[in-house]
Amino acid sequence: TSFEQLNLSEELLKGIRMMNFKKPSKIQEKALPLLFLNPPSNMIAQSQSGTGKTAAFSLNILTRIDINVRAPQALVLAPSRELARQILGVIQHMGQFITGLETQAAIPDPANRTKKFTAHVVVGTPGTVMDAVRKRSLDPRQMRILVLDEADNMLDQQGLGEQCTRVKKLIPGTVQTVLFSATFPAQVIDYAQNFAPKANVLTL
Ligand code: AMP
Repeated sequence: TSFEQLNLSEELLKGIRMMNFKKPSKIQEKALPLLFLNPPSNMIAQSQSGTGKTAAFSLNILTRIDINVRAPQALVLAPSRELARQILGVIQHMGQFITGLETQAAIPDPANRTKKFTAHVVVGTPGTVMDAVRKRSLDPRQMRILVLDEADNMLDQQGLGEQCTRVKKLIPGTVQTVLFSATFPAQVIDYAQNFAPKANVLTL
Protein backbone atom coordinates (compact mmCIF):
# COMPACT_ATOMS: atom_id res chain seq x y z
CA THR A 1 0.00 0.00 0.00
CA SER A 2 1.09 3.58 -0.65
CA PHE A 3 -0.04 6.70 1.21
CA GLU A 4 -1.80 7.77 -2.01
CA GLN A 5 -4.01 4.67 -1.82
CA LEU A 6 -5.18 5.59 1.68
CA ASN A 7 -7.35 8.46 0.44
CA LEU A 8 -5.43 11.16 2.28
CA SER A 9 -5.89 14.81 1.39
CA GLU A 10 -3.37 16.54 -0.87
CA GLU A 11 -2.28 18.68 2.12
CA LEU A 12 -1.51 15.61 4.20
CA LEU A 13 0.32 13.88 1.36
CA LYS A 14 2.53 16.97 1.11
CA GLY A 15 3.15 16.90 4.86
CA ILE A 16 4.08 13.21 4.66
CA ARG A 17 6.53 14.00 1.86
CA MET A 18 8.13 16.69 4.02
CA MET A 19 8.64 14.08 6.72
CA ASN A 20 10.32 11.80 4.20
CA PHE A 21 8.00 8.87 4.76
CA LYS A 22 8.10 6.74 1.61
CA LYS A 23 5.37 4.27 2.44
CA PRO A 24 3.04 3.50 5.37
CA SER A 25 4.47 1.43 8.21
CA LYS A 26 2.69 -1.81 9.06
CA ILE A 27 0.59 -0.27 11.83
CA GLN A 28 -0.34 2.67 9.58
CA GLU A 29 -1.34 0.32 6.79
CA LYS A 30 -3.55 -1.71 9.12
CA ALA A 31 -4.96 1.06 11.31
CA LEU A 32 -5.77 3.83 8.85
CA PRO A 33 -8.46 2.06 6.76
CA LEU A 34 -10.21 1.06 10.00
CA LEU A 35 -9.84 4.51 11.57
CA PHE A 36 -11.29 6.13 8.44
CA LEU A 37 -14.49 4.04 8.46
CA ASN A 38 -17.77 5.90 8.64
CA PRO A 39 -19.47 6.01 11.01
CA PRO A 40 -16.22 6.20 12.99
CA SER A 41 -15.39 3.14 15.06
CA ASN A 42 -13.25 2.83 18.16
CA MET A 43 -9.84 1.17 18.08
CA ILE A 44 -7.62 -0.64 20.54
CA ALA A 45 -4.17 -1.18 19.09
CA GLN A 46 -1.07 -2.86 20.36
CA SER A 47 1.94 -0.94 19.20
CA GLN A 48 5.38 -0.13 20.60
CA SER A 49 7.04 3.21 20.03
CA GLY A 50 9.08 3.12 16.87
CA THR A 51 6.32 1.50 14.81
CA GLY A 52 4.81 4.72 13.48
CA LYS A 53 1.77 4.82 15.76
CA THR A 54 1.96 8.58 16.34
CA ALA A 55 1.63 9.26 12.62
CA ALA A 56 -1.22 6.72 12.42
CA PHE A 57 -3.47 8.44 14.95
CA SER A 58 -2.34 11.90 13.85
CA LEU A 59 -3.35 11.26 10.22
CA ASN A 60 -6.79 10.18 11.40
CA ILE A 61 -7.15 13.34 13.49
CA LEU A 62 -5.95 15.64 10.70
CA THR A 63 -8.31 13.94 8.23
CA ARG A 64 -11.36 14.22 10.46
CA ILE A 65 -11.21 17.71 11.92
CA ASP A 66 -13.25 20.51 10.36
CA ILE A 67 -10.97 23.53 10.10
CA ASN A 68 -13.99 25.87 10.05
CA VAL A 69 -15.11 24.82 13.52
CA ARG A 70 -13.07 26.88 15.94
CA ALA A 71 -13.16 24.64 18.98
CA PRO A 72 -11.20 21.59 20.13
CA GLN A 73 -12.25 18.56 18.07
CA ALA A 74 -9.45 16.13 18.83
CA LEU A 75 -7.80 15.38 22.14
CA VAL A 76 -4.71 13.25 22.64
CA LEU A 77 -3.87 12.18 26.20
CA ALA A 78 -0.32 11.09 27.02
CA PRO A 79 1.37 9.99 30.26
CA SER A 80 4.05 12.71 30.32
CA ARG A 81 4.53 16.28 29.18
CA GLU A 82 7.58 15.24 27.11
CA LEU A 83 5.52 12.72 25.15
CA ALA A 84 2.69 15.25 24.75
CA ARG A 85 5.16 17.77 23.29
CA GLN A 86 6.58 15.15 20.92
CA ILE A 87 3.13 14.18 19.66
CA LEU A 88 2.23 17.83 19.18
CA GLY A 89 5.40 18.27 17.12
CA VAL A 90 4.43 15.37 14.83
CA ILE A 91 0.91 16.74 14.34
CA GLN A 92 2.24 20.22 13.54
CA HIS A 93 4.82 18.86 11.11
CA MET A 94 2.33 16.63 9.35
CA GLY A 95 -0.38 19.27 9.28
CA GLN A 96 1.84 22.13 8.12
CA PHE A 97 0.00 22.49 4.79
CA ILE A 98 -3.47 22.58 6.33
CA THR A 99 -4.32 26.27 6.23
CA GLY A 100 -5.61 27.60 9.54
CA LEU A 101 -4.76 24.51 11.59
CA GLU A 102 -4.27 25.27 15.26
CA THR A 103 -2.76 22.97 17.87
CA GLN A 104 -2.03 23.39 21.57
CA ALA A 105 -0.36 21.51 24.40
CA ALA A 106 -2.26 21.20 27.68
CA ILE A 107 0.55 20.20 30.03
CA PRO A 108 1.54 21.28 33.54
CA ASP A 109 2.93 24.80 33.19
CA PRO A 110 2.16 27.96 35.22
CA ALA A 111 1.36 29.76 31.95
CA ASN A 112 -1.42 27.24 31.27
CA ARG A 113 -3.39 28.18 34.39
CA THR A 114 -5.11 31.05 32.63
CA LYS A 115 -4.81 29.83 29.04
CA LYS A 116 -7.86 29.17 26.84
CA PHE A 117 -7.67 25.98 24.81
CA THR A 118 -9.49 26.68 21.56
CA ALA A 119 -7.20 24.93 19.03
CA HIS A 120 -8.58 22.23 16.72
CA VAL A 121 -6.20 19.68 18.24
CA VAL A 122 -5.17 19.59 21.90
CA VAL A 123 -2.46 17.24 23.16
CA GLY A 124 -2.04 16.99 26.88
CA THR A 125 -1.65 15.18 30.13
CA PRO A 126 -4.87 14.04 31.82
CA GLY A 127 -4.71 16.26 34.92
CA THR A 128 -4.11 19.50 33.06
CA VAL A 129 -6.81 18.70 30.51
CA MET A 130 -9.31 17.89 33.24
CA ASP A 131 -8.54 21.14 35.08
CA ALA A 132 -9.01 23.09 31.86
CA VAL A 133 -12.41 21.52 31.18
CA ARG A 134 -13.53 22.11 34.76
CA LYS A 135 -12.45 25.75 34.66
CA ARG A 136 -14.22 26.13 31.32
CA SER A 137 -11.03 27.13 29.58
CA LEU A 138 -11.51 24.11 27.28
CA ASP A 139 -14.96 23.60 25.76
CA PRO A 140 -15.31 19.85 25.12
CA ARG A 141 -18.64 19.97 23.28
CA GLN A 142 -17.21 19.73 19.73
CA MET A 143 -14.82 16.91 20.59
CA ARG A 144 -15.05 14.03 18.13
CA ILE A 145 -11.78 12.11 18.51
CA LEU A 146 -10.11 11.00 21.72
CA VAL A 147 -6.72 9.25 21.61
CA LEU A 148 -5.06 7.60 24.58
CA ASP A 149 -1.37 7.00 23.92
CA GLU A 150 0.75 4.58 25.97
CA ALA A 151 -2.25 3.37 27.93
CA ASP A 152 -0.09 0.86 29.81
CA ASN A 153 2.23 3.60 31.07
CA MET A 154 -0.76 5.74 31.90
CA LEU A 155 -2.29 3.02 34.07
CA ASP A 156 1.03 2.45 35.84
CA GLN A 157 0.99 5.98 37.18
CA GLN A 158 -1.02 6.94 40.21
CA GLY A 159 -4.41 8.25 39.21
CA LEU A 160 -3.70 8.87 35.51
CA GLY A 161 -6.05 6.16 34.25
CA GLU A 162 -8.80 7.45 36.47
CA GLN A 163 -8.24 10.99 35.20
CA CYS A 164 -8.54 9.77 31.61
CA THR A 165 -11.85 8.18 32.51
CA ARG A 166 -13.05 11.44 34.05
CA VAL A 167 -12.01 13.42 31.00
CA LYS A 168 -13.91 10.97 28.80
CA LYS A 169 -17.07 11.51 30.85
CA LEU A 170 -16.87 15.24 30.18
CA ILE A 171 -16.79 14.94 26.39
CA PRO A 172 -19.55 13.81 23.99
CA GLY A 173 -20.38 10.10 24.13
CA THR A 174 -20.17 9.90 20.34
CA VAL A 175 -16.41 10.53 20.31
CA GLN A 176 -14.22 8.13 18.29
CA THR A 177 -11.96 6.59 20.93
CA VAL A 178 -8.55 5.27 19.93
CA LEU A 179 -6.30 3.54 22.44
CA PHE A 180 -2.69 2.55 21.91
CA SER A 181 -0.71 0.42 24.31
CA ALA A 182 2.61 -1.39 23.94
CA THR A 183 1.54 -4.19 26.27
CA PHE A 184 -1.80 -5.65 27.32
CA PRO A 185 -1.67 -7.09 30.82
CA ALA A 186 -5.11 -8.03 32.20
CA GLN A 187 -5.72 -4.67 33.88
CA VAL A 188 -5.02 -2.79 30.64
CA ILE A 189 -7.37 -5.09 28.69
CA ASP A 190 -10.21 -4.44 31.14
CA TYR A 191 -9.57 -0.73 31.12
CA ALA A 192 -9.30 -0.57 27.32
CA GLN A 193 -12.54 -2.44 26.76
CA ASN A 194 -14.38 -0.04 29.03
CA PHE A 195 -12.69 3.01 27.61
CA ALA A 196 -13.14 2.08 23.93
CA PRO A 197 -16.27 -0.07 23.69
CA LYS A 198 -16.84 -2.22 20.59
CA ALA A 199 -13.39 -1.30 19.31
CA ASN A 200 -11.63 -2.86 16.36
CA VAL A 201 -8.65 -4.62 17.91
CA LEU A 202 -5.28 -4.46 16.16
CA THR A 203 -2.10 -6.32 16.99
CA LEU A 204 1.08 -6.13 14.98
P1 AMP B 1 6.44 6.33 16.68
O1 AMP B 1 6.10 4.86 16.65
O2 AMP B 1 5.25 7.16 16.48
O3 AMP B 1 7.20 6.66 17.93
O4 AMP B 1 7.40 6.65 15.43
C1 AMP B 1 8.70 6.15 15.31
C2 AMP B 1 9.53 6.82 14.20
O5 AMP B 1 9.15 6.33 12.93
C3 AMP B 1 9.42 8.32 14.13
O6 AMP B 1 10.73 8.84 14.10
C4 AMP B 1 8.71 8.59 12.83
O7 AMP B 1 9.17 9.77 12.23
C5 AMP B 1 9.05 7.38 11.98
N1 AMP B 1 7.99 7.00 11.03
C6 AMP B 1 6.66 6.94 11.28
N2 AMP B 1 5.98 6.54 10.18
C7 AMP B 1 6.91 6.33 9.21
C8 AMP B 1 6.84 5.92 7.82
N3 AMP B 1 5.69 5.63 7.26
N4 AMP B 1 8.00 5.84 7.13
C9 AMP B 1 9.18 6.14 7.72
N5 AMP B 1 9.32 6.54 9.00
C10 AMP B 1 8.20 6.65 9.74
